[in-house]
Amino acid sequence: MDKNWKIETLAVQAGYEPEDGAPRIVPIAQSTTYKYDDVQSVADLFDLKREGFFYTRLANPTVDAFEKKIAAMEGGVAAVALSSGQAANAYSLLNIARCGDHVLALSSLYGGTVSLFTNTLKKAGLEISFVTPEMGEAEVEAQMRENTKALFIESLANPALVVADFEMYARVAHKFGVPLVVDNTFPTPILCNPFKFGADIVTHSTTKYIDGHATSVGGIVVEKGGFNWSNGKFPEFTEPDASYHGLIYTRDFAAAPFSVKMRVQLVRDYGIPMMPFNAFLSHLGTETLHLRMERHSENALAMAEFLRNHPKVSWVNYPGLADSPENAKVRKYFKNGMASGVLCFGVKGGREAGERVMNALKLAAIVVHVADVRTGVLHPASMTHRQLSEAELVAAGVSPDLIRLSVGIENIDDIIADFDQALAQA
Ligand code: PLP
Repeated sequence: MDKNWKIETLAVQAGYEPEDGAPRIVPIAQSTTYKYDDVQSVADLFDLKREGFFYTRLANPTVDAFEKKIAAMEGGVAAVALSSGQAANAYSLLNIARCGDHVLALSSLYGGTVSLFTNTLKKAGLEISFVTPEMGEAEVEAQMRENTKALFIESLANPALVVADFEMYARVAHKFGVPLVVDNTFPTPILCNPFKFGADIVTHSTTKYIDGHATSVGGIVVEKGGFNWSNGKFPEFTEPDASYHGLIYTRDFAAAPFSVKMRVQLVRDYGIPMMPFNAFLSHLGTETLHLRMERHSENALAMAEFLRNHPKVSWVNYPGLADSPENAKVRKYFKNGMASGVLCFGVKGGREAGERVMNALKLAAIVVHVADVRTGVLHPASMTHRQLSEAELVAAGVSPDLIRLSVGIENIDDIIADFDQALAQA
């Protein structure tokens, strides 16, 4: 891999470098185990004295190729691929904070993440409190505590479509000596590289655009490298790990202590790694990510323009629209002002009229999914965000009439024609 390659080249070429005579395409290493000639080789692997594979729960060649590709595209030093985006977000925090610690997060996060934070991680002893996207720097700072161990944001919130002010959150996190963790699922590394704007850890639900074809649930956590874990706040990084013969992550794996720790503690003990076949499909999907993100963004902008001029539509939220309050941040942080493929809108007549429109669609399908090549719609209040309370729905930017539209890469004329005929039945 050439360090100077641009992101489009990394999408196609990074991760897998075949040797002479090896398969051109990354092979699917559908094997739980690996064969060795002598005992010492395996002992050295267990002791992390040499690199290699010994058990697929911890590492696998196909998964490794995918991890290397995404790490290269984000500009990070290492990545750990997991079985879902939920696992990625949970591990990103469990690797940093422990029982009794606090994490500050943005209230506009994806509903599943809010639920993970306020229920399951709470039971594990983490206290996670929220700031709203409207709060300014001083207000966010005021919410940081002595025991805060991370600041967690989503670069483009699902489905509120709020664009995070990365630099502001990075300033606050770093002032308090804690990492900024960014869920970068919606923009993908093609449209936005949070590491350039101060993030320290990036997560993805690779289930979305990265796979892109709705074949594989997956997640990934990427480490930028260079964060100062030795500032006294993170003893688990700087003190001997009794479960690994006294390993000290910052000393023994100085280049990527966060990723090594996650793999040998959380993935070793809890499991939930990405599986080889899913890694193969996600790796393949990533090879066209740069082309797809451009078309998704172009089609979504055209759909946003169409919908907001339609007499039956009451409102449209798409950060790519020049007059969107989010557009300045899109232009600052995202490539060429492209705002990804998801938009939200409401139909005049509210929830019932919206349901009639959704039921009348022919090309666009009702799916509990977002961000793949096919156009799809979803009603968050009755589907993905169903477990959230009224207050949490408001905080997540989900009104009862909100329809989330994931614009695919079909011909835009066909997508518009489908919505035109469906809206006629509102
Ligand atoms: N993060 C974001 C922004 C998401 O949109 C989602 C799922 O929609 C997740 C995380 C969870 O990912 P997964 O469904 O792969 O567990």
